[in-house]
Amino acid sequence: MHTFKKSFTQQMPISESAIASAVEVMRTGRLHRYNTVNGELSEADLLDKQFAQYLGVKYCLSCASGGYSLYIALLCAGVKQGDGVLCNAFTLAPVPGAINNAGGVPVLVETTDDLTIDLEDLADKITLSGARFLLLSHMRGHIADMDAIMAICEQGGVVLIEDCAHTMGADWNGKKSGTFGLVSCFSTQTYKHINSGEGGFLVTNNDEVMAKAIIYSGSYMLFDQHSTLPPIETFKDIAKGTPNFSGRMDNLRAAILRPQLAALDAQCERWNELYRAMEKALSSIEGLRLTDRSPSEHFVGSSIQFSLPNVPKNQLTKVVVGCAARGVSVKWVGDSQPSGYSSKYNHWEYLEQLTPLPSTERVLASLFDMRIPLTFNRSDADSIAQVISEVLDTL
Ligand SMILES: *Cc1c(COP(=O)(O)O)cnc(C)c1O
Repeated sequence: MHTFKKSFTQQMPISESAIASAVEVMRTGRLHRYNTVNGELSEADLLDKQFAQYLGVKYCLSCASGGYSLYIALLCAGVKQGDGVLCNAFTLAPVPGAINNAGGVPVLVETTDDLTIDLEDLADKITLSGARFLLLSHMRGHIADMDAIMAICEQGGVVLIEDCAHTMGADWNGKKSGTFGLVSCFSTQTYKHINSGEGGFLVTNNDEVMAKAIIYSGSYMLFDQHSTLPPIETFKDIAKGTPNFSGRMDNLRAAILRPQLAALDAQCERWNELYRAMEKALSSIEGLRLTDRSPSEHFVGSSIQFSLPNVPKNQLTKVVVGCAARGVSVKWVGDSQPSGYSSKYNHWEYLEQLTPLPSTERVLASLFDMRIPLTFNRSDADSIAQVISEVLDTL
């Protein structure tokens, strides 16, 4: 029996330079983003500026988490109590959670075999539901045809909000993921592309959206300190008319994110090397289907998905258990019970009026997901594929 020894949840250590910046912040005692002296920019301000520059957008607001940034992004985009918000049926729990938190009602859209949102169903559901917002998840880094999405949104008068938790560093035809929507969100939670434990970004080019986001996130009326700041007049009606929900990023986390952001593109290249090795190794396994990806999609391969359409449903748990016994951690998305994470829409029992989602049901039923931590190297791909192949032979 072949076994694999490395951990699928072990991320890279925080670099010594990032640790040094964090220590520096602690020495000053000024951990709060607005606690500055002599007009200095706090680490959180510098981070906002750095990420806005990286993405080529006007404004960035660092937040306490990705889910929090999605929540206020929806409010800034104009979601009101009871409004329908279209979103991918295949996404992670924080997405419907953010919609729920903002008072919206998720309208789930079908999933294609390649794990992107189904464009035909999207157009149909815009018409049927009358929803005027789309929270688009680039789930597991799979980017739908963004030209088509933009055209559909424009035609239906739908406001696009992007969830880029898995596409930091990715682009569609050279245009960075997160620059398509009115407002877009990223996560810096440990398992995303840069790691501060918890954290997130909200980005936009829109003055009012940014002004509202700053106030929602809890500016204590110190909003004029922000490094990416809309014209001060924008705050005139917004500052007192917008509640404070306190979800700021602190300087300690910002300090460890800034050096990681500087190294992001190089990290993404390493991820893609590992992904290509994994893809190649898995493609030799009979009956295992990998997703097709558009040449326009420049993704970041921090995880890989495959399906086993020919394995009977009652055998699929054995794949997870057999792999785990040999040290390989795969998740079966279609499992009837959520375990360790939650990406299946019918596990979110608080959702109202679920309409049947036959395509999503079929796609997720045989879908598996595997993380690709950067602590792996290319030769690990063959080892992992050997384990999976051995397990399939035992069925
Ligand atoms: C991680 C994640 C988020 C945000 O999660 P937080 O843990 O709140 O930072 C949002 N969407 C998807 C698809 C995610 O995987």
